[in-house]
Amino acid sequence: MKGFMKEFKEFISRGNVMDMAIGIIIGGAFTAIVTALVDSIIMPLITGIFGGLSVKEWAFHIGKSTIAVGALVQAIINFLLIALVLFSVIKAINKVKKKEEETEEEPTTKECPFCKSEIPVEATRCPHCTSELK
Ligand SMILES: [Zn+2]
Repeated sequence: MKGFMKEFKEFISRGNVMDMAIGIIIGGAFTAIVTALVDSIIMPLITGIFGGLSVKEWAFHIGKSTIAVGALVQAIINFLLIALVLFSVIKAINKVKKKEEETEEEPTTKECPFCKSEIPVEATRCPHCTSELK
C-alpha cells in the first residue's frame, strides 16, 4: 500500500496529470457546448428542412420492432462537430508550438550573399570566396 501511494504521488507530481485533468475538464465543458449547439440550433434546422419531423423521432418499423435511427444520427453529428473543432484546436496549438520552437533555435550559420555557401553567423569574411561581409 505504501509503495502504491508513493507511485501515485510520483504520478500526480509529474505535471502531465494536471495537463490531462485540465484537458478532461475542458473537454467535458466543450462537449456540453457542442451538445447545446446541436440540440438547440442544428437539430431544429434539420427538423425544419425535413418538414417538421424531429431527428430524434426518426425511426423505422420492422414488424413490431422500432429501429430508432434518430439518436444515432444525432450522436454522429455531435461526434463530427467535436472532431472538427478539436482538430482545429490541435492544429492551432501545433502552429503556436512550431513557432515557439523556431524562435527558440537561433541560427548558427548564414548564407554568404556572394557565393551562397553556408558560413558561421559571426563571420566577417567568407571562408569560401573571401568576400568581406557586413
Ligand atoms: Zn562567399
